[in-house]
Amino acid sequence: MADPINVVVTGAAGQIAYSLLYQLAAGSVFGPEQPINLRLLDIKPMMDVLQGVVMELEDLALPLLRDVLPTADAGVAFKDAAAAFLVGAMPRKQGMERKDLLAANVKIFKDQGEALEKFARKDIKVLVVGNPANTNALICSHYAPSIPKENFTAMTRLDQNRAQAALASRLGVQYPDAAHAVADLPGKGSLKVSSTVNDNAWLNGEFLETIQKRGAAVIAARKMSSAMSAAKAAGDHMRDWWFGTKPGQWVSMGVVSDGSYGIPKDVVFSFPVTIKDKKFEIVQGLEISDFARSKLDITAKELEEERAEAHQVLMP
Ligand code: NDP
Repeated sequence: MADPINVVVTGAAGQIAYSLLYQLAAGSVFGPEQPINLRLLDIKPMMDVLQGVVMELEDLALPLLRDVLPTADAGVAFKDAAAAFLVGAMPRKQGMERKDLLAANVKIFKDQGEALEKFARKDIKVLVVGNPANTNALICSHYAPSIPKENFTAMTRLDQNRAQAALASRLGVQYPDAAHAVADLPGKGSLKVSSTVNDNAWLNGEFLETIQKRGAAVIAARKMSSAMSAAKAAGDHMRDWWFGTKPGQWVSMGVVSDGSYGIPKDVVFSFPVTIKDKKFEIVQGLEISDFARSKLDITAKELEEERAEAHQVLMP
């Protein structure tokens, strides 16, 4: 069996981590042949809670899980790390101004970037989940200049998973692949989702809104935010990055833009990617409708503004 790898989870006492840690320990992300050491980072006031999580991890009695280390010290957590899930972030509190929230997160991800730079493996794969994930990933990468910027990504996979589920429900099938926009329909074989749904008003209206408002709908029902599905999406993202995509499969990842599709360079943006040998490539040549273009431009502008605000916090 392979030597164990060190895997970091920050915000390890939180609810997303609670679902994510089981997937990691069970081998669903790095595979059934890869033992792991878990490095669990959280803030000092959460150390008692984190101890409870450590007890539960022990009680799983899973053979792939080797050493488990809870800590509030980023330098300890990131030592020799091969993969990191950066889940912990300052939560939005009522009455908090956007710029205060951003300032708190800039500080967290600057510190973690510096710790990554000093202590982690240079080939570490970093997935940022904590919001605002795209900008947090950019800041983290900035403070870890000796680690390639391609090694920093942000989670956008939950929206892809949600979209697949919503299309499946509309088409009455179990699991359409929205990434290829192809669905296997009983008796009809593989068909393009766009031609099968054939209802632009639905695709551009109700469908889009359902995905956009899904997080709020879960909070309204559960009185807590989506954690199980967010953790599953984080696991999916890292597993595909680690093992690669299947032939013909695309997945959504927030990656540093290279200017593809007219997206400004150096913002972390969600692109469809294929992955081979732990390296992703942005899928090129897709046709962008006017409707999609307008949505992409709005998001790009928001991310550029957020990047400028983050710079202001760092260099007032
Ligand atoms: P969660 O585990 O529910 O969420 C953690 C982060 O993930 C939040 O930023 C949240 O964003 C984000 N997120 C991204 N996608 C989703 C999604 N689909 N649904 C819900 N959240 C999503 O938060 P908890 O409060 O339970 O736990 C956070 C933990 O992080 C706490 O234990 C806290 O102490 C810790 N923390 C650790 C730090 C560190 O390690 N240095 C720094 C700061 C906090 P959003 O806010 O938009 O919901």
